[in-house]
Amino acid sequence: MRILICGGGIGGLAAALALARIGAEVTVFEKRSDTREGGAGIQIGPNGTRILRQLGIAERLQPNIASPQSLCVHDGPSGERLTQLPLGGWLEKRHGAPYWVAHRADLHASLMDAAQAHPLITIRPGIDIQSAKTYPDEVLAVSNGETVGAGDLLVAADGLHSTLRRTIFAAPPPRYCGKSAARSVIPAAATPKGIVTRSVGIWLAPQGHVVHYPVRGGAELAVVVIGNHANGDIDWAREIEPDWVADAVAECAAPVRNLVAASQTWRRWSLAELSPLPAWVRNRTVLLGDAAHPVLPFLAQGAVLALEDAATLARCLSVAQLASNGSLGDDASAAALAAYETARRPRSARVQAASRRNGEIYHLSGPMRTARNMTLRMLPPEKLLAGYDWLYGWKPGD
Ligand SMILES: Cc1cc2nc3c(=O)[nH]c(=O)nc-3n(C[C@H](O)[C@H](O)[C@H](O)COP(=O)(O)OP(=O)(O)OC[C@H]3O[C@@H](n4cnc5c(N)ncnc54)[C@H](O)[C@@H]3O)c2cc1C
Repeated sequence: MRILICGGGIGGLAAALALARIGAEVTVFEKRSDTREGGAGIQIGPNGTRILRQLGIAERLQPNIASPQSLCVHDGPSGERLTQLPLGGWLEKRHGAPYWVAHRADLHASLMDAAQAHPLITIRPGIDIQSAKTYPDEVLAVSNGETVGAGDLLVAADGLHSTLRRTIFAAPPPRYCGKSAARSVIPAAATPKGIVTRSVGIWLAPQGHVVHYPVRGGAELAVVVIGNHANGDIDWAREIEPDWVADAVAECAAPVRNLVAASQTWRRWSLAELSPLPAWVRNRTVLLGDAAHPVLPFLAQGAVLALEDAATLARCLSVAQLASNGSLGDDASAAALAAYETARRPRSARVQAASRRNGEIYHLSGPMRTARNMTLRMLPPEKLLAGYDWLYGWKPGD
C-alpha cells in the first residue's frame, strides 16, 4: 500500500506511524517549510496516551510531560474551588493509561522524530496540496498544478481549514462560533500566588473561562483564556492584544487576573464548528482529524480524536489486508475506508456534542451559575469523572 497524507500535524503524523506499522509506504506533505510546530499546551487523556504507547511515542515524550494529580474546578469570579477531580493514579487505574499534559511542540516533535526515523515514512515539507486527481488504480496529489505524489490512498489530515475538504468534498468552510482562545506559556517560577501549578486548573466565568496546567516536566505553565471576540481569524498564531486577555478575565478573582498579567505574549485561535459532512470518503481520499470533525476545545479532545482516527484507520486497513491474504484490492480498501467512517462518525459526533455542552455549562451566568456551582460542590468527584468512562475508556477496536 502506498499512502499519501496531506498535513503533518498531530493527526497526519500519527496516521503515518500507525499505517507504517501495518507495512504501508507513507509520504506526508506538510505545507509549512519548518516541520516543527509551536503552540502552547495540550492535554492527553488516557484514550490518547494509550495510542501514544502503541505507536512507541510515549517513551520519547515522557521526559517532557507532566502527570497532574487532579483537575481543580473553580468559580472564576469568587475564586472558590468547587471540586477536585482525581486525574492521577485513580484515573490511570480505571483506564489502564495515564492522563498527561504536555507542550504541543513536544508532542508534535515526538511524533515527527519517530516519523522521520521510520524507513517507510517520507516527510516532504514546504508542499501545499490543493487538490487530487483520482484514477481507477491510483490517486495523485497536486500542488500548484503539478503532481507531487502518487498513491493508493490519500489521507486529508490538513486541519480545521482543510483545503482538500473544500476541493474534493465541496464542503463549506467552518463557522466562527464567536469565541476565541488566547494561549500563552509562562515559566512556572512566574506563577502568581493562588495558582496551583501541579494540577490542571479551570476557572469558570460567564462568557469565558481560563485553563492552566504544567508542561515541560513542570518547568512551565500553559495558560488558555477563552472569551468572546467579535472577529474570527484563520491564522492560529496571530498575536492578540494583551488588553483583550485582561478584559476577558476582568471579573475573575485576583489569582486569575495576576496569572494573565504574567504574560505579555498571547496568540489567538478562533473557535469554529463545522456541520456534519455528508461523507468522509470520496473515491480514494479519506478525511481525518480536524479536517473531518473539528471539536471545540472544552473537553480537551480534538487532538486525541485525531489519534483515535489514526489508530482506527490503520486497524480497518489491516483487517481488510488480512482478510484478502495480504494484497489489498480496490473493493477491500473501499470496504476498509467505509468501516473507518462508520466507526468514527458516532464517536466524534458524541465528543463534539459533549464539548459544546461543557462550554455552555462553563459559561453559565445568574441563577444557572449558582445551580452549577452547587451541583459541582455536592457531587462526589469520582462519580463526576466516572461519567466520562465512555470517553477515556476508548480502545482501538471499539
Ligand atoms: C485552544 C485550543 C486548545 C486545545 N487543547 C487541546 C487539548 O488539550 N487536547 C486535545 O486533544 N486537543 C486540543 N485541541 C484541539 C487540537 O489542537 C486539534 O484538534 C488538533 O490539532 C487536530 O489535529 P490535526 O492533525 O487534525 O490538525 P492540525 O493540528 O491543524 O494539523 C494540520 C496540518 O496540516 C497542515 N496543512 C494544512 N493545509 C495543508 C495543505 N493544503 N497541504 C499540506 N499541509 C497542510 C498544517 O500546516 C498542519 O501542520 C485544542 C485546540 C485549541 C484551539
